[in-house]
Amino acid sequence: MTHGGDTIFGKIIRKEIPAQIVYETERVLAFRDINPVAPTHILVIPKKPIPSVAAATAEDKELLGELLLEAAEVARREGLEEGGYRVVTNIGYNGGQTVFHLHLHIIGGRHCQWPPG
Ligand code: 5GP
Repeated sequence: MTHGGDTIFGKIIRKEIPAQIVYETERVLAFRDINPVAPTHILVIPKKPIPSVAAATAEDKELLGELLLEAAEVARREGLEEGGYRVVTNIGYNGGQTVFHLHLHIIGGRHCQWPPG
């Protein structure tokens, strides 16, 4: 399996740069966002370097499902389930994506507005 890729998240996966890792499996890594927008802000990423949901293929079907389930597991472990939380993935320029390695944001610990800005 490929581990990493060419982005900053690839470096985090390979432990070349530090991150506050909260959860890790063979295929998935979760770590705290360096610039949190909420009391709890965690990024859940596949170790496979898929640039975004838009770049995923049918081959990634199982991995994408696993990513969502692992996000729910991380949120549970962080004590977010009762109060609720948001899981979001940004895609491309209009989506506000800045790191082109697929990631789910878990945002919790405060009420989130809808629609988002
Ligand atoms: P995006 O805007 O692509 O959806 O989200 C990228 C996220 O990655 C941002 O929330 C940003 O704060 C976070 N981020 C960028 N570089 C780093 C880093 O080196 N370490 C960590 N932990 N988070 C990062």
